[in-house]
Amino acid sequence: MLDKILESELQAIRAKGLYRQMRKVVSSAGPVVFCDGKQMLNFASNNYLSIADDQRLVVAAHRVMDTHGIGASASRLVVGNTDIHEELEQRLASFKNKPAALVFPTGYMANAGCIPAVASGDNDLILADRLVHASLLDACRNSYGKLRVFPHNDTDALEHLLARYHDKKRRILIVTEGVFSMDGDCAPLDRIALLARSYDALLMLDDAHGTGVLGDNGRGAAEMFSVENMVDIHMGTLSKAIGVMGGFVAGSYLLREYLVNKARSFIYTTGLPPALCAASMESLSIIQSEPERRNRLRATSGLVRNELQRIGFTVPDGITPIIPVIIGDATKVMQVSHALSEYGMIAPGIRYPTVPEGKERLRISIQSGHTDAHIDKLLSCMKKIFETL
Ligand SMILES: *Cc1c(COP(=O)(O)O)cnc(C)c1O
Repeated sequence: MLDKILESELQAIRAKGLYRQMRKVVSSAGPVVFCDGKQMLNFASNNYLSIADDQRLVVAAHRVMDTHGIGASASRLVVGNTDIHEELEQRLASFKNKPAALVFPTGYMANAGCIPAVASGDNDLILADRLVHASLLDACRNSYGKLRVFPHNDTDALEHLLARYHDKKRRILIVTEGVFSMDGDCAPLDRIALLARSYDALLMLDDAHGTGVLGDNGRGAAEMFSVENMVDIHMGTLSKAIGVMGGFVAGSYLLREYLVNKARSFIYTTGLPPALCAASMESLSIIQSEPERRNRLRATSGLVRNELQRIGFTVPDGITPIIPVIIGDATKVMQVSHALSEYGMIAPGIRYPTVPEGKERLRISIQSGHTDAHIDKLLSCMKKIFETL
């Protein structure tokens, strides 16, 4: 009975060209992966600084596995909170230039816990950019606060909403991202931070893709825009540039204490394995001591954008390693992605509902570890693909 229902639902998904499948990777997630039986260039991961398979992280994790084992075995509030978790939180706080930080098992859970805890009353209002990540939207829907979305990066529309609601609501929480995950563009954080200040709104920044990548010291989009002190809630993940797994929120001491007491995705789940905390700390050290990774990433990303535009692809300008190549058709985008994989390269086609219909795109993500030869190969294959389109 169930299978019959599911088969007809899946058939409808296939008919729309929206069927999703997983690839099987049997190596680490560096610039080159072994996947689906062959060696492939990896233009699909969030491992921007090519740190995920760095041996220094492996050694750091091993050392803590020897003393702390594997699983944290309980929620942080019971006996799942170790010295390693707290050490990582202090490191994250100082990395983000904030008094305190709190680690969650994933970035998804950091958002899921934080937003309903902060916008907790039915007279609270959340103003979110229309293109925020699914984890933020899910978190907003789980909040008792009302959600209004504003058009992507439209600060006039945001101001209009703030002006209309600021004296009618108990509190207003503005939610946006440092780097938008499907477009690779940045929020105008300088303008948004000023608006938050002038209308007494709270500002939450999800910098999943900016952390480690943007700013002179890799502290993220808020560093780049010089608004670190104007962001109330800095959210980030340990799973992208940091190359491990987990999420965090950085902010005031009271924010941390409040989330420990109120964030359900913190309270009702097992703590992150301590070895992953140790690996994350090692990664933060590398990010701080090896700025050349960031510089290389920036230079390569700029070059790839320019060259793809020169070939004739529709690629928005930008400075991040997320490069969307707009194809605008669900079937065609999968053909492009498939053609690339025939050439030995992985870059996913992104379709509705992840992006709006008509904005289907190939999403190329660059790593600092991509060599010039990797990039030449990508560009020459993209040129051939363009000619067949
Ligand atoms: C990836 C991502 C998350 C979730 O982070 P995980 O650690 O992978 O759960 C949250 N927000 C944004 C914007 C993301 O891109």
